Parts: sequence; structure tokens; C-alpha cells
Amino acid sequence: MSEVRAYAAQSPESGLAPFSIARRAPRPDDVVIEIDYCGICHSDLHTAYNDWGGTVYPVVPGHEIVGRVTAVGAAVKDFKPGEVVGVGCMVDSCRTCASCADGLEQYCEQGWVGTYNGQDRHDGSPTHGGYSERIVVSERFVLRIPAALDPAAAAPLLCAGITTYSPLKHFDVGKGHRVGVVGMGGLGHMGVKFARALGAEVTVFTRSASKVEEAKKHGAHHVIISTDEAGMEAALASFDFILDTVPVPHDLNPYLNALRRDGTLILVGLLEPIEPALQAFPIVFGRRRLAGSLIGGLPETQEMLDFCAENGITCDIEMLDIRNINEAYERMQRSDVRYRFVIDLATLKS
Ligand SMILES: [Zn+2]
Ligand SMILES: [Zn+2]
Repeated sequence: MSEVRAYAAQSPESGLAPFSIARRAPRPDDVVIEIDYCGICHSDLHTAYNDWGGTVYPVVPGHEIVGRVTAVGAAVKDFKPGEVVGVGCMVDSCRTCASCADGLEQYCEQGWVGTYNGQDRHDGSPTHGGYSERIVVSERFVLRIPAALDPAAAAPLLCAGITTYSPLKHFDVGKGHRVGVVGMGGLGHMGVKFARALGAEVTVFTRSASKVEEAKKHGAHHVIISTDEAGMEAALASFDFILDTVPVPHDLNPYLNALRRDGTLILVGLLEPIEPALQAFPIVFGRRRLAGSLIGGLPETQEMLDFCAENGITCDIEMLDIRNINEAYERMQRSDVRYRFVIDLATLKS
């Protein structure tokens, strides 16, 4: 065991403050990682504030982790000290169910172990995330960060990136497809970059006219202001896929109506009941589909990182001194970040 510095929330109201946590001595299959960068995901904030219930305090958030290997257990084959590696949302799963056997650990039938606010499968200890100096993770859940990627800008790929890449790949999005992306935040801007790189014709749906130029800069061919009735009318029955990244309840019916026959509306942001109610008519009369998708498994996350290296894709980030973390959370609640904060962990160590 070793003590490491971290930032933790002690209660829903406490905000984050310096804290000390224990990291286990490496087991035979463990990789010890000195953390350099950690992206800040909206899940971090919801967990720190206990918005979803179930937060066990103290909690150290952070699941977009990039760092360097400093030591490995005796049985580790794929990693060695000095390599740049990443850890995303999961640090373990049952490893034996049908989903795990398929490399789809995010759908583990026993439930996967979260990088934070989870429970270690061996000793029951709480898992703590990347707002810390160091983490110890089984090699199956460690990813290789290609040398071509800027390590700080690669960190958010481990959640925001894979969340949008996985459904586009699952549904074979590519050349000849018209793809809509709803929302232009951390997830949405990555969805635009991936859909474009996969060869699709990309349209962003956004509420704010101020995001038109940014959307085009990220690769969107077209932008529709979702409050503009004429624009939405013109979009009827024209998309093969729509990737909806908006995390708060909103009317999905206009997006179902914007799909072609056999088109698919994919939810990756919404975890709440759908309101207002879905209309069955556009689904039945157009054989349209409503689908969901959750992050991605380890093999696909590695594939996504390699795809990003080949295509020059990273996340647009704002670097953060960890001492300003509470202010960053407040800014995120106002959507005042382009598009992801990444903590420079050197500011924790200094
Ligand atoms: Zn996340
Ligand atoms: Zn499993």
C-alpha cells in the first residue's frame, strides 16, 4: 500500500478538496500508473454531488486518465515502465460472461467496476479515480496511448471519445450516410469529428446560433438550429442516423421524424425518463429505431485511440490547475467550457 495525494468530495455539498488515499501494492496482473492528465466528465460532477444517488464518500472522481507506467506486476505481459497509457471508465468486470468474452465489458452481466465510486472485486475496497497522483489497474483495463496523440488532449477520448465512436462503429456508419449529431458539448463535438472521419455527411443540431461556426470547424457540413421551425421542417425524413448527446430530457419526436425509413436515433447522453412521450407513429410508419449505447469495451477503446492517431483526432481541451476544480465544476454547469477540462496533475504534485 502507498499513500497518494488526491482531491476528494466528502459530501454532496463539500466541493472537492485535497485528500490522501491508499493505493494497493501491485497484484501480479497490475500496472502502476503515474497520472499526468485527467479529463473532467459530467459524470464526475454528478457523482460528487450525488445527483444519481449511490455516491459513497469520500469519492475521488476522474475516469479519463492518461499517465506513464512506473511499475508492473510479475504476470504483466503487455506493458512496461515508461509507456504512456490510459484508463477509462472501468477498472474491472467479471471477465467470464458472454459480454466480457466478446470484449464488451461495459455490458458485463455481473456489472463492471467503475474507476471511481466502485468496489474492488478482490478486497471490496472503494475504487478512486484520476484526480490523484497514481492509480493501480489490472492490465486488461489499461489502454495504450499512441505516440502521435497529445496525451492531455487524448484523455477525454477515454470517455467522451469512446461514447460517440462505439455506436457509430456498431451501426456501420460511413460513406453515403447522412448523420445528425444533437448537442455540441464534450460528446457532441467528438461525434462530429468521428462521423466526418468515417466518411458520413454530418449535420449538427444545436439550440445556439453561436455554435454554427464551431460546428463547421469540427467538420460538420451543415448546422440546423433546432428551434428554427423551417430548418427542422426541411430536415424531415432525411437522416440515416442521429446521435443524440444531450443529457437532459428533451423532445425526441422531431429527431425521429428527421430519420429516413429504417433510420436510427441513438441515445448516448440521456439517462432519465423520456419526456415528452415518444410518438409511436413515426417509429411504426418509418420502421425507425430508437437505440442506446454505453461507452465501449476495451478492444474497441484501443481501436478508437488508434483511429484517432491515424486521423489526427483529439478532444478540444482547456487545461486546469486542480486547485481551481470547484470553479471548473461551476463553469461546466453553465456549459462554459470548449469542450473538456483536463486537469494537469503536475499541479497536484507541486
Ligand atoms: Zn465520463
Ligand atoms: Zn462480465
